[in-house]
Amino acid sequence: MDTSEKILRQAFAEKQSAVEAQGHAVRALKAAGAAKPEIDAAIESLNGLKLEKASIERQLQAAIGGGDGSLNRETFRQAVVNTLERRLFYIPSFKIYRGVAGLYDYGPPGCAVKSNVLAFWRQHFVLEENMLEVDCPCVTPEVVLKASGHVDKFTDLMVKDEKTGTCYRADHLLKDFCNEKLQKDLSISPEKAAELRHVLAVLDDLSSEQLGAKIKEYGITAPDTKNPLSDPYPFNLMFQTSIGPSGLSPGYMRPETAQGIFVNFKDLYYYNGNKLPFAAAQIGQAFRNEISPRQGLLRVREFTLAEIEHFVDPENKSHPKFSEVANLEFLMFPREEQMSGHSAKRIPLGEAVSRGIVNNETLGYFIGRVYLFLTRLGIDKDRLRFRQHLANEMAHYAADCWDAEIECSYGWIECVGIADRSAYDLRAHSEKSGVALVAQEKFLEPREVEKLVINPVKKELGLAFKGNQRMVVEALEAMNEKEALEMKATLESKEESPFYVCTLGKNVTIKKNMVTISKEIKKEHQRVFTPSVIEPSFGIGRIIFCLFEHSFYTRPSKAGDEQLNVFRFPPLVAPIKCTVFPLVQQQQYEEVAKVISQSLTTAGISHKIDITGTHVFPLICFGSKG
Ligand code: AMP
Repeated sequence: MDTSEKILRQAFAEKQSAVEAQGHAVRALKAAGAAKPEIDAAIESLNGLKLEKASIERQLQAAIGGGDGSLNRETFRQAVVNTLERRLFYIPSFKIYRGVAGLYDYGPPGCAVKSNVLAFWRQHFVLEENMLEVDCPCVTPEVVLKASGHVDKFTDLMVKDEKTGTCYRADHLLKDFCNEKLQKDLSISPEKAAELRHVLAVLDDLSSEQLGAKIKEYGITAPDTKNPLSDPYPFNLMFQTSIGPSGLSPGYMRPETAQGIFVNFKDLYYYNGNKLPFAAAQIGQAFRNEISPRQGLLRVREFTLAEIEHFVDPENKSHPKFSEVANLEFLMFPREEQMSGHSAKRIPLGEAVSRGIVNNETLGYFIGRVYLFLTRLGIDKDRLRFRQHLANEMAHYAADCWDAEIECSYGWIECVGIADRSAYDLRAHSEKSGVALVAQEKFLEPREVEKLVINPVKKELGLAFKGNQRMVVEALEAMNEKEALEMKATLESKEESPFYVCTLGKNVTIKKNMVTISKEIKKEHQRVFTPSVIEPSFGIGRIIFCLFEHSFYTRPSKAGDEQLNVFRFPPLVAPIKCTVFPLVQQQQYEEVAKVISQSLTTAGISHKIDITGTHVFPLICFGSKG
């Protein structure tokens, strides 16, 4: 909470008590039958205090962005959304059947904007970086999403109305409660306000238990019925299906496009001449059965994702083109700033990487490229920030994650996630499929490396463990370096060591003569490793919605008798670049207009032709420079 808000909250609380005390004094004077001038003076003083309180209230509302601010945002959004729906940019799907929450169609101008955004995405990323584009199915067999962890962990925390069974997203309820309290309840103390702001800052970091405890502590109930809520529990967001008529082959609609790329890694690596780094890209539909979709196009159940998987050597995450983005400077919101209640600040990207705020150059390079992509599309650079994930928000295997967040009428919204996912995905699919998804680095000269060698003495193990010998041998060979060195030390000091064999489900005793563990120098001609992956993941619908808002304004008509709603799109995304119409309605000019129109079509420039002579300038102007 910033100092001005803190001071204002304190002043408001003091003025509130002063008003109450003075009100009490007036009532007491009246009850005691005091003289009229005395009562009038007390009332005058009360009115003065009330005026002062109202003035502080206005300042406080302005400081917290509530009151008029949020009302204006609502009105603004309504104007944008009404224009978008009236002009068929998008349409609630299955509208004649009353629609389904979280599903939307793009209408003609919406399709044109989307296709322009995707064309620019391909140019800015796929072409620029020579990425390998793929197009994989949406229906995905269970085994793939089991390996990736989605079957077990792709969940949001849900609470249920205990009487009606209506479901809500637990974190959304807590967020709404905190925001509403902060904006509408001006009488809360500065300490309480600071606590609520802290809850908002760490919301994504809260565990199920912490979330449940906060919901109880604040007495949050079901928004529609005010009934009590259940404890939060995980709900898997994937749409389940089965592949083929037997019903025996479970599958899911993919929740992201990335897995299609990971499972193709071996072929793509070969296609790339067995060289790293390289990136693969995919644009396609993703499906998430959101618990309670709201916020229009921002949270939907089917949406277009554009994803990049950039594979890189984990020992070398430098990027040859980093210098091209190092001088960019924009709003960054590192983890520490969030935890300490500060706001985002401008940091040069080069500095963010050199100071270790951003984990590595490749991640930094993509953050810079995403910034350029969004601002060139028409996103306002002052309403764009890069927010680092908090510790718990980030998957345990991730090295670092940043979200490109765009401010719109709904607040700051994550539109692109940029994550260094380390080697997690390729390792997971290697283990499950048995196909090694690895890369090799061939050495120019063979290198001598010290290697740990574990040699089980099968004869002794056979005598000791008989039919279980094979399981013990396999377990010994599978020890990692730390375990092996610990066993070596124990065998040397105590002649024997307890050893847990998981396939037997018990401890056995390994004697010194049953295994030799040593470090040997070996010559190696290559290094085999699992690449790390850096993943920028773009929610195209969210970007487009923010673009609609950032391009929108209203102006009076020429006659001044009505307000016109205008989208001032950059030519790059404008659905229609220009209109051709003769100024004078004569046959010869109509012919010329048709020729111009044909030339524009040949050049691939979208336009409208109007030879009716009654050309009305479109209510929506497309392309300011087009
Ligand atoms: P995630 O894999 O959750 O990081 O999501 C990647 C991107 O997809 C996000 O940055 C959002 O832009 C977008 N996204 C995620 N969920 C939704 C949704 N329900 N509706 C629309 N876009 C979404």
